[in-house]
Amino acid sequence: QVRFEDVTMQFENKKVLDRINFTLPSKELISFLGPSGCGKSTTLYLISGLLNATSGKIYFDDRDVTKLDPVKRQVGLVFQNYALYPHLTVRENIMFPLKMSKMAKNLRNERAEEMAELTKIADQLDKYPRQLSGGQQQRVAISRALSKSPEILLMDEPLSNLDARLRIEMREEIRRIQQETGVTTVFVTHDQEEALSIADNVMVLESGEIQQMTDPVTLYQKPRNLFVSKFIGSPI
Ligand code: ATP
Ligand code: MG
Repeated sequence: QVRFEDVTMQFENKKVLDRINFTLPSKELISFLGPSGCGKSTTLYLISGLLNATSGKIYFDDRDVTKLDPVKRQVGLVFQNYALYPHLTVRENIMFPLKMSKMAKNLRNERAEEMAELTKIADQLDKYPRQLSGGQQQRVAISRALSKSPEILLMDEPLSNLDARLRIEMREEIRRIQQETGVTTVFVTHDQEEALSIADNVMVLESGEIQQMTDPVTLYQKPRNLFVSKFIGSPI
């Protein structure tokens, strides 16, 4: 469970998030949805510890992680551009975080194979990222992010670089992987349909404020205000 208490994020004199409060239930897939510049990535980076809040508190269960380093937070990150190491094989990419945490080599190998099995790239382990399609590269990025069994998987617009057909295939794969592992997952997107179809719950953000957070059906049928209704394209 991730909890934000009155979290404010300010860059110079621009308030990007203004005293936001929310709780993300464990073992669910939540989507952060909103237009460009609304603060989705900023919120994700605050969870990961890549950014530090100007004020407020962040908790993982009862643990106050507000001041904790990113590596100590046990989160996995997946970005739009995959951010794989081009000079390392798929296997080495997946094992990299484990190497950093000094896990024994045979265990690292075992874990890499387990992850590749999960994401269906077991036959690609000895290839280099450039030899793979965008969808396959994203599977490697997900394997790497999950290799250390993080408490939370954070994905920032993971499908934005893929063509329409692959986007749909990959969002179903992300859903499957989330359900098989049970890892609490945050999926950032500006695509309404994607958010509504993949998530257990959707958090709609606008101008650094949470407009609504609920399950997709309720969001569609009972948008709380005009912004949500228009943004979701709901009939009401
Ligand atoms: P997008 O869909 O375009 O990725 P987003 O919802 O992820 O948008 P953020 O990246 O969180 O938006 O940015 C929110 C606001 O904060 C934007 O107005 C952005 O310009 C501003 N911002 C983000 N990072 C910084 C920074 N390091 N310094 C100053 N302003 C920033
Ligand atoms: Mg962003």
